[in-house]
Amino acid sequence: MTSANARTFVIIGGGLAGATAAATLRKEGFDGRVVLFGEDPERPYELPPLSKGYLRGEDERDKVFVHREGFYGERHIELRVATRVVALEPRTQEVVTDAGERLRYDRVLLATGASARRLAVPGADLSGVHYLRTLADADALRDRLGRARNAVVIGGGWIGAEVTASVRQLGLDVSLVAPASVPIERVLGREVGRIYHDLHAERGVELLMGAKVEALVGTHAVEAVQLADGRLVPADLVVVGIGTTPRTELAVGAGVAVDGGIVADEYLRTNVPGVFAAGDVASVWHPRLGARIRVEHWDNAKRQAQAAAKNMLDREAIYERIPYFYSDQYDLGMEYSGYAPSWDGVVFRGDPNAREFIAFWLKDGRVAAGMNANVWDVNAAVEALVTARTPVDLERLVDLETPLEDLERIVLQPA
Ligand SMILES: Cc1cc2nc3c(=O)[nH]c(=O)nc-3n(C[C@H](O)[C@H](O)[C@H](O)COP(=O)(O)OP(=O)(O)OC[C@H]3O[C@@H](n4cnc5c(N)ncnc54)[C@H](O)[C@@H]3O)c2cc1C
Repeated sequence: MTSANARTFVIIGGGLAGATAAATLRKEGFDGRVVLFGEDPERPYELPPLSKGYLRGEDERDKVFVHREGFYGERHIELRVATRVVALEPRTQEVVTDAGERLRYDRVLLATGASARRLAVPGADLSGVHYLRTLADADALRDRLGRARNAVVIGGGWIGAEVTASVRQLGLDVSLVAPASVPIERVLGREVGRIYHDLHAERGVELLMGAKVEALVGTHAVEAVQLADGRLVPADLVVVGIGTTPRTELAVGAGVAVDGGIVADEYLRTNVPGVFAAGDVASVWHPRLGARIRVEHWDNAKRQAQAAAKNMLDREAIYERIPYFYSDQYDLGMEYSGYAPSWDGVVFRGDPNAREFIAFWLKDGRVAAGMNANVWDVNAAVEALVTARTPVDLERLVDLETPLEDLERIVLQPA
């Protein structure tokens, strides 16, 4: 398929973004060499099942992979698993692997993702303390779940909340410890976070909010979590979900600009010619939002990688999709569209108590973000409202009599 003078496109990072970029290059007709490096021993897989169905033993292992086994070979994508790239050298246009191999590239995509932030307290390295970022992490946690009775989840973000739900569904006693006043407070705020708080409490989770972890206590294995207020919470399993760190080390070493992630423009180009970035690691200029943002969600990794691959082929694919993500906890499923680092108020369409509603985060009379919870097939309308960025008629926005299809039309034209 490839000729001797064919160009070589290298993708560093064998996660969702890397795998999607490789597939897109072929779909777009690129017939040069595509080399996809992943330090993980597995072929690229998706992370969402690891805190949900796969963790609970409901999803088969085969379901987590981005593509079936023969996919890469059939498309002449050279997938190099268990291979870490240790250096990127833009001057000579080479990458260097941990085996010392040098490979010359014409274009390179950094899709190195993020790693789980480590807990820095005494006892954090005891056995029974788990993180969740890789398939191996999920397997180790699953194994431990089978032998544990009291789990403590540290961190009240998406991962912490989803793991709490899954572990509780498996029948363990679970305490959720977080500094915020309700789960997922940073993104959702108190009003909507309260809905998740009550959902977990109803299912029998002990929510220790406003709490700080001082130490993990135990001899070899963890036995308890010591809180700053002196409380001791029994635990034979601890799962830590306290955020992530973008994996920017290669970029830094190569002189690629990094500022809370690898800095890229709306074409996913970095400051170094021929070097692109996409997915969890990338901090990308969003022309519609007028901000540079790093988004850590499935949809972003997939679509940004598609755009990056096209741009590697000089197709000028601007990335301006409004951030979107989803989460499932117990029987509450949701989708969220938008970007609301701050807001003036939240309004509900539908009944938050019945947990069937759409919440809208408002900023200066406009919809900054919307979340549909156990209400489906409305995401396109919600996204249209966010994208419009014009003032909305609040009364009609929350009026269930206004058909959802009309949501777009209730956006008032600017004066
Ligand atoms: C448990 C969990 C559940 C999630 N659930 C949801 C959800 O419900 N909804 C949602 O929208 N999002 C969810 N997410 C987030 C979503 O999965 C991520 O945004 C997405 O996987 C990011 O893909 P990525 O390819 O950018 O990064 P990653 O998936 O992190 O992949 C990066 C890959 O690069 C490899 N790598 C890094 N450095 C090197 C190197 N130097 N050489 C070779 N390889 C390297 C890593 O080993 C890794 O495999 C979840 C995340 C986690 C952890």
